Amino acid sequence: AASQFGKSKAAVIAEGQIKQTFADVAGCDEAKQDLQEVVEFLRHPERYHQLGARIPHGVLLVGPPGSGKTLLAKAVAGEAKVPYYSISGSDFVEMFVGVGAARVRDLFEQARKSAPCIVFIDEIDAVGRKRGVSLQGGNDEREQTLNQLLVEMDGFGSGQEVIILAATNRPDVLDAALLRPGRFDRQVVVDAPDVRGREMVLRIHARKKPLDASVDLALVARRTAGMVGADLENLLNEAALLAAREGRTRITGRDVDEARDRVLMGPERRSLVVREADRKVTAYHEVGHALAAQLLPHADKAHKLTIVPRGRSLGSALYTPEDRMHHTRAALLDLICVALAGHAAEDVATGQITTGAANDFQKATSIARRMVTEWGMSGAGQLALAQDSSNYLGFGPQPTNYSDHTAQTIDTETALILNSQYDRAHALLTEHAHVLHRLTDELMIRESLSGDDVRTVLAGGLLPDLEVPPLGSSDGPAPSGELTPGPA
Ligand code: ADP
Ligand code: MG
Ligand code: ZN
Repeated sequence: AASQFGKSKAAVIAEGQIKQTFADVAGCDEAKQDLQEVVEFLRHPERYHQLGARIPHGVLLVGPPGSGKTLLAKAVAGEAKVPYYSISGSDFVEMFVGVGAARVRDLFEQARKSAPCIVFIDEIDAVGRKRGVSLQGGNDEREQTLNQLLVEMDGFGSGQEVIILAATNRPDVLDAALLRPGRFDRQVVVDAPDVRGREMVLRIHARKKPLDASVDLALVARRTAGMVGADLENLLNEAALLAAREGRTRITGRDVDEARDRVLMGPERRSLVVREADRKVTAYHEVGHALAAQLLPHADKAHKLTIVPRGRSLGSALYTPEDRMHHTRAALLDLICVALAGHAAEDVATGQITTGAANDFQKATSIARRMVTEWGMSGAGQLALAQDSSNYLGFGPQPTNYSDHTAQTIDTETALILNSQYDRAHALLTEHAHVLHRLTDELMIRESLSGDDVRTVLAGGLLPDLEVPPLGSSDGPAPSGELTPGPA
């Protein structure tokens, strides 16, 4: 009917009806910490206004499907005791030009009336992809919708406490306009859980399930590497179904094992569990980076390394960069050495190198090349190679002002730097091979290590036991069931 045209399809849950709180979300402590500020603001906006603080309008929740983004958004509303509007990006994208934009307008009109409140936009990439990249054109509808969303976000005055949480697995495809200050200028990462996180998720979902003494949730957590919260919930549910089918009143360890195999066998889940051998190589590789970074004087230290897959990478090491305006030659060499240390570690530990992480080589090569061609930091000295681009009009390859001979010198010098830094990484890790192995063993068990863990093991110390904190008090929130959305 015409009157429905442009009505927002958002589902609303009134304050007081949201049962979820942060206690229902496990394994993403950092995300919860980041979102705590949003909760505080929604509870006491006046404190922030009084100080003239600019409050975030938009927070982007970034993480793989099933990691708990929707759950977290609801929990923010639950903690703050405010109404919760939710809509999916795909609901905005309709056949008819103008419908999506009208829906956005309608949604925000409603939301403003019930401020303070949360608006949750799931799958924001459906509407927020970069504009003007499609060759077919015909993006009018999506562009209008996106523009309307930007207009609404910019239109908030103070005193209108509407906070927009949006979820995506692909922040890289979003239009830059969405990420500008005052819009979605904060990102909260909701990663797949590590082993400790998985045990906590399992405990949450086991709260209302009668488990037999043969169920060891810590063991289940260890055997479900790669699973996200939704998988784990599904696993326990499958186990309950198996027990029910056989007329039992308690879930046994066998049920859980069988459920796990079923979940893993699921069609879209086959790639889920990373082969043990791959995990080990990944662990050596990441430890190699982190250990080299720790040992080299000028390198940024790793503050976290993990073998929990994220995006397309099997593992990662995250560094805390120090503020530096200028890079010295020594610091650049250390940087290259750290980049190559992942592969060097694979070789030291296993005698072979895998094809993973080609961008380590790219990164190292690009730094080495710039040292030679731009910064005069190689054996060739000041090659004075700044390219003369004053007459360059931008068609075809940029002309170079150096001879074939110089080109060869550049290649040779670049290779020299790369080879010597690879050898340096190799020697360093061979010298500390025992630490390399010990850290890798710990990483295999814990799945993620902090920078402090690296330093502890390097100093010969022991890491504390893998500890999983107890669940909150037993009178905590009821287990999360599906809530019936109220009228839109
Ligand atoms: P996403 O929005 O990231 O795809 P959801 O929030 O929809 O994931 O997760 C689906 C369900 O899986 C949740 O309702 C919850 O029952 C379970 N779940 C997912 N992540 C977690 C978590 N971190 N802690 C507890 N339960 C979780
Ligand atoms: Mg979701
Ligand atoms: Zn690497």
